[in-house]
Amino acid sequence: MPVITGTIIALLIWAIFSVVTALLFLIAILLFLMARHAHQLNKLNQWLAKPDLQTIPEASGLWDEAFSRLYKMVKRHQKTKADLASELQHIQLATSALPDGVAILNAANRIEWFNPLAEQHFGLNSQRDVMQDITYLVRQPEFIRYLHESNYNEPLIMTSSRHDEMRLSIRIVDYGDNKRLLISRDITQLERIEAMRRDFVANVSHELRTPLTVVNGYVENLQDMDNLNHAQISRALYLMADQTKRMDNLVADLLTLSRLENDLTPSREEIVDIHSLLRTVYQDGQTLSAGKHHISMEIASEKNLHGNYDQLRSAFSNFLSNAIRYTPEGGEILMRWGERAEQQVFSVQDSGIGIAQQHIPRLTERFYRVDLSRSRETGGTGLGLAIVKHIALRHQAKLEVISVENKGSTFSLVFPPKRTAGDQAKA
Ligand code: ADP
Repeated sequence: MPVITGTIIALLIWAIFSVVTALLFLIAILLFLMARHAHQLNKLNQWLAKPDLQTIPEASGLWDEAFSRLYKMVKRHQKTKADLASELQHIQLATSALPDGVAILNAANRIEWFNPLAEQHFGLNSQRDVMQDITYLVRQPEFIRYLHESNYNEPLIMTSSRHDEMRLSIRIVDYGDNKRLLISRDITQLERIEAMRRDFVANVSHELRTPLTVVNGYVENLQDMDNLNHAQISRALYLMADQTKRMDNLVADLLTLSRLENDLTPSREEIVDIHSLLRTVYQDGQTLSAGKHHISMEIASEKNLHGNYDQLRSAFSNFLSNAIRYTPEGGEILMRWGERAEQQVFSVQDSGIGIAQQHIPRLTERFYRVDLSRSRETGGTGLGLAIVKHIALRHQAKLEVISVENKGSTFSLVFPPKRTAGDQAKA
């Protein structure tokens, strides 16, 4: 527009004055316009060096239009950038929350990104290890071999390079343009459970095999030997009955344990009359001891318990029968019902063989025995305290063991105050 107006004025000057004056005028106009454009261009150049929506230059005419388009473009760009950043943050949050370790490797095995669990599993450092070669950081040969394989159908199971006791299952997934996802899962607990299951099956088989072998032996003897007299036959039958009783006890304990472990529904509960339960347990104990021990009972609390009668009877009887079985003839056994800081406590104290300290934490493991032959001789299955542990758990009770070798032991069950039931049942 200014160029057209300037040209018209220049033509008028030419008509009125001379061509030279008109040309001079035109040159002056063009120089002015060029200076203005150079000024705007300079402003644009300065702004581009530090583009900020707030400081975009103002202008008029064509420059104004160009600046306003630029403004809109930058605004759009900033919004896309913000959207992408928030999307990326979302993805990072999601991958951080994954229960697995995840790392992205490029074609040269350099780590482009990893989540906090991968950091733990491989001992990586988010400040230091990005773009490092993973084979420098995880150096186990089996890992490096696996990484270079092209067949990742089976996971690699290995021990974490940073934590000796941590077992990891590693998977690699190819994706995109020569990228790979390295996925690691902590399977320590799973392996422990699997080992326990294997041990358990082996233990049960072994426990059943021993009495079965004995019974088989007697059956074969009876079959092979002619002219057995009555005394020999009845002795063999007596010993066979002893072994079948042992198997029966074992199967009964296994069933109890399995019910306690697998039945997730809460047990039927009632207010248990503890005094009458104690009398029953005491009577059973007297029968088992057959007068070989001095068993006494002390009742120092009038309170009862909210709980399951059969389970409590089984736990209490177990403590007392253990005290009898692990206390030599003539020993003292005290069964006590008392209160400690608003908690009801059942305990059995004996003057028996006691238990060395290192065994105490393991007593509730299935089939854990300090002295295998003594346990077997006295009809033990090695499952009693494992059963008590589950019963205690179901009653939120704490199992306490205090023992000194060759002096005796005290086994206690400490029930939380919420289990106390006053003495209504007695009334
Ligand atoms: P078991 O059937 O072998 O008695 P338990 O689970 O009841 O199995 O007990 C586990 C082990 O704890 C026993 O084998 C025994 O070594 C030890 N134990 C339990 N109670 C006593 C006790 N009162 N005195 C000494 N040792 C005990």
